[in-house]
Amino acid sequence: MQLTPDNLTILDFEKSPLMPAIVQDAATGQILMQGFMNSAAIAATFEKQLVTFYSRSKGRLWTKGEESNNVLKLISAHTDCDNDSILVLALPAGPTCHLGTQSCFGEAKPTTGFLAQLEQVIVSRKSDDPSTSYTASLFSKDISRSCQKVGEEGVEVALAAMKQDKNELINESADLLYHLLVLLQRSDSNLSDVVNCLENRHKKS
Ligand code: AMP
Ligand code: ZN
Ligand code: ZN
Ligand code: ZN
Repeated sequence: MQLTPDNLTILDFEKSPLMPAIVQDAATGQILMQGFMNSAAIAATFEKQLVTFYSRSKGRLWTKGEESNNVLKLISAHTDCDNDSILVLALPAGPTCHLGTQSCFGEAKPTTGFLAQLEQVIVSRKSDDPSTSYTASLFSKDISRSCQKVGEEGVEVALAAMKQDKNELINESADLLYHLLVLLQRSDSNLSDVVNCLENRHKKS
C-alpha cells in the first residue's frame, strides 16, 4: 500500500520502534540501500522529500546525503503486506554508498534497469549542443534520420544473426536499442509505453 503523510497510523510498530526501509532507484529498479526508520524519520522523509533514517550508530535522525550531498529524492513510499517494513522509491543525486558505488549492495543490479537509465540520459541530451553530443545532434536533425537509423540497425541485427556472428549481433542490437529509444522520445513515447504493451499482451495470453 502506498504510504502518505495521512495514513502513517497503518504502520505496525508493535514489534519494534525501528522499521526496516529498503530504498530502490525509481528509474532503474536497482536496490540502493537499507536502513531503519522510526516514526519521526518517516515524517521527516515526507516533510523534506528526502529519504531520512534513524541511524543506530549516530543515535539520531539521519538524512542520507546530509554531508556528501548524495541525497535520495523521495518519489513514493510503500508498506509491505503486514505493514512492518517500508519500500522507498527514490532518485539518487549521486552514489548512495559511502564507498562510492551506486548501491550499498555493490554493483549487483538488474541489467534491464540500465535501459531506463539510458533513456533518462537521452532525454537530458535533447536540447544540448549538437557539436558536443551525438544524441543532441540526432535531435537536431529531421525525425526521418532516426526512422532510417532504426531501419538500418534492424537490418544489421538480422544480417549479423544470419552470419552467426555473436559479437556483431550484440553490437548491432545495442545500436538498434539506442536508436529505438531516441526514436520513441522523438515520437512522444517511451520505454514504459512499450513495456506496458508487452505486459498487457502477457496478461491476456
Ligand atoms: P551522507 O549521509 O552521505 O552525507 O554521509 C554521512 C555519513 O553517513 C558517512 O560518513 C557514513 O558514515 C554514513 N553513510 C553514508 N552513506 C551510507 C550508507 N549508504 N550506508 C551506511 N552509512 C552511510
Ligand atoms: Zn512484513
Ligand atoms: Zn554503503
Ligand atoms: Zn549498427
